[in-house]
Order: sequence, then C-alpha cells, then structure tokens
Amino acid sequence: MKILLNKTSLTESLRHFSDIGFVPTMGSIHKGHLSLISKSNQMCQKTVVSIFVNPKQFDNKKDFKTYPKNIKKDLKVLNQSKTVDFVYIPKFKDIFKNNKKPRIKLIKKDKILCAKFRNGHFEGVLDVMDRLTYIVRPTKIFMGNKDFQQLFLVKKYLKKKYNINVLGCKTIREKNKVALSSRNYFLSKRDLILASRVVKKLINVKKNIKNKKNKNKYLLTVKDNFQKQFKIKIEYLELRNINNLKLSNVINSSKLFVAYYLNGVRLIDNL
Ligand code: AMP
Repeated sequence: MKILLNKTSLTESLRHFSDIGFVPTMGSIHKGHLSLISKSNQMCQKTVVSIFVNPKQFDNKKDFKTYPKNIKKDLKVLNQSKTVDFVYIPKFKDIFKNNKKPRIKLIKKDKILCAKFRNGHFEGVLDVMDRLTYIVRPTKIFMGNKDFQQLFLVKKYLKKKYNINVLGCKTIREKNKVALSSRNYFLSKRDLILASRVVKKLINVKKNIKNKKNKNKYLLTVKDNFQKQFKIKIEYLELRNINNLKLSNVINSSKLFVAYYLNGVRLIDNL
C-alpha cells in the first residue's frame, strides 16, 4: 500500500493504470468503508482510497473541528485489509488551490432531506467530489447507500462531466442494527443502545406502513411519538422513491429516510 500526500505523486503513481476504483472517505475508517474498498478491490485493477476531511461540506465550524481524525490508526487498518493499493491524503491546498470554479448550486427540487437542513453541505460535497475525480481519474467510484442522498446527487453530477460509474454499496450495520458511521464515536454506550432501539422501531414502522393510506402523514405521527418516547430531535422521517427521491405513497422502490439528533450527535439512516 503506497501513501501519497499530493496530487503530483498520485498522478505519477497511477499513470500506468487504466482501471482504477476509487473510495473517497473522511477517515476514521470502519467496516462500512472497508466493504466499499473490498468491492473496489474485487472489481478494479487498482484501488485508491482518499482520506480528506473536506471543510467545505461542513455547515458548522465546530462540527468540522471536532470531526474524528486518526490517520495513524486508519493507515494501519487499511494496510491490514490488504485491499488498498494507494491512499491519497491531500492537504487542503492540494485540492483547492489554483482552481477557480463556478459555485455549484443545488436546484430547488434537490433541496430536500439533508439539503434542507444543512446549508451548503452538498454543494461542498459535489465540489470536492468533482475535484477528486478530476485528480484520481477513476473508472469506478464506490459510495455507501448509507448516505443515499449524497450518492444520488454525486451520481447525477459526475455523470454529466465524466465517463465513470458511481456504484452504491450496501449499508454495513452493527449486530444491534445501528449503521456504522464515524460519528458513532461520539456516542456513549447508552446512546448506542438508544440508537439501536430507534432503528429497530423504524424497521417495524417500515413493515407497518404498508397498511397506511397516507404514508407520509402517518410518519408525521410516528415522528412525534419517537421524539417524545426517545427524547430525540428528528429533522425528517419520510418515505421517498429511491430513483428520484420524490415523496412516495407506495412501498415499492421506496425507502424510509431519517435524520435525528441524539445527545447533540446528528445521525442519518435509510431503511
Ligand atoms: P465518510 O468517511 O463518512 O465520508 O464515508 C465515506 C464513504 O463510506 C461514503 O460513501 C459513505 O456513504 C460510506 N459509508 C459510511 N458509512 C457506511 C456504512 N455503514 N456502510 C457502508 N458504507 C458506508
């Protein structure tokens, strides 16, 4: 596994390869990341993993400053996985220097779910994904269904500019059903138990919703009950179509999307 700290050495190292799988991450590597990497390793000649905590996608400075970082441990885990060929760990300037670009703006119909609550977040994500893709030049990008809206928007945006495939990979969960996430490091044992109860209840809601006439109206009641029962703040709990992310009133091709705060930690999931 080769570690590359700037785009010049990355470009030089990748120059001989034409079939590159790319897994962009913000570090604090966990089994969710490793599952994307393993997919890339199976499907592509070489696998590049990037570790970059992109300040532009944080709508809150404190959130950026406190985002969990542990490069040493990450490199150890990645190396031990024996599935990574290159790790790209750029500095801010390596990605954002000398590259004036028109500001990315989400269209109105995309300002839903997380985009409605995190001002500028996806604009920051699309910007960095555009820049990383331009530098890495992958044939395939592997991203998690866990961040479904991110996957949806990145796919749509990059498809217009590059000849690449963005592949959505399944969400890896703990035994207790909580989706793995770097933000879980902020949760206490008690919080994790609560998160597990929330997700298990949501799995039941997803089953029960079949019989409800107006599904999103029913979800508003569920949201209220959850907030009271678990003392959490839910930003959204919505059933949406997975192909266009429009509100849905049918189970087929739809998922339940949720974002909530548990003791100040923002968690998202979809089921
Ligand atoms: P992050 O480091 O949180 O920016 O995530 C990097 C990539 O890993 C994104 O494509 C995420 O969707 C994906 N990812 C995060 N958590 C999981 C998970 N539990 N299962 C599968 N993929 C995940």
